[in-house]
Amino acid sequence: MAQHGTQIAKVGIFTSGGDAPGMNAALRAAARNLLHEGREVFGIIGGYSGILERNFQPLQSRSLANIIQRGGTILKTARCLEFHRPEVRAQAVHNLREHQIDACIVIGGDGSFAGAQAVWQEHEYPMVGIPATIDNDIFGTDSTIGFDTAINTALEAIDRIRDTATSHDRIFIIEVMGRDSGFIASAVGLAGGAEEVFTPEYPMPVDQLVEKLKSSASKGKKSSIIVAAEGQKPGRAYDLAEQIRKKMGLDPKVCILGHQQRGGPPTAADRILATRMGCAAVQLLTTGQCDVFVGVESGKLVAIPFEAPQRNKKLAPKDYVQLASMLSH
Ligand code: ADP
Repeated sequence: MAQHGTQIAKVGIFTSGGDAPGMNAALRAAARNLLHEGREVFGIIGGYSGILERNFQPLQSRSLANIIQRGGTILKTARCLEFHRPEVRAQAVHNLREHQIDACIVIGGDGSFAGAQAVWQEHEYPMVGIPATIDNDIFGTDSTIGFDTAINTALEAIDRIRDTATSHDRIFIIEVMGRDSGFIASAVGLAGGAEEVFTPEYPMPVDQLVEKLKSSASKGKKSSIIVAAEGQKPGRAYDLAEQIRKKMGLDPKVCILGHQQRGGPPTAADRILATRMGCAAVQLLTTGQCDVFVGVESGKLVAIPFEAPQRNKKLAPKDYVQLASMLSH
């Protein structure tokens, strides 16, 4: 951490990595807080690529109107593979300093934070992070911006699918997002009353699922919802369906919820979290802290070192998966 706060007159803000509902609310809060303090704010369009392209847009309070309710990110987002190279990061810092942008706030996931950490370590350029990803898989914070919206979107879809599953006595396998993380699957599995939840963290043999489905069927249960995280291989729900078909002679239907989980207006919980985190990020930056992101621990906002998620993995709650299984009998 360094004492740079008083020298920060111009701040850049960008969104990076996967988009998440509530990114705009975080941008609005951080930018308006900075403007309120008399600092200048630049929106950087397109994440780290925007820094390399010098795509810096001055923001005023009016340019942030009517965005608190919008999903996605008005600043656009991008994945910038070049940023893994030290010479590219040096060019990025050069571009920022050339435009007299003294510090940046990065709204994104742990990949984006790894980039910010490297920038601080190599160039002592101040950066503070705001965690935003629907996957909720950033170690150090209980919640990330976008997760609550994503699980509510997925849950609404699951409730609708249950109506048709029940009417036709069908088994449905519903695949939800979450690369190598089962947070969405375990939350919507529990809230949606799923028969079983498949997560990357707690893999379950298909035979165990088949036995469970047979036992449920013998007790008169004719329809079931199974929730599966996409894992590293989106579409794995089809493999699962094929195995159930072979082992049980049943014909499960597959529904892949996909990118609809990433969009839509943020829930009240995400807007509030984003607004609090946006203002907390400004507070950190202007009191001289950097190389950290804002986290929430038991409802309180805290500063977490960028390196924490690089060193530790945050696992989906095992008890959610166990409870869902136990209560579906
Ligand atoms: P997220 O921030 O949602 O986890 P990514 O992992 O795709 O998304 O990271 C977003 C961007 O952050 C990458 O495209 C890259 O520009 C930058 N980034 C990710 N990891 C690193 C790293 N180890 N070093 C430097 N930059 C990185």
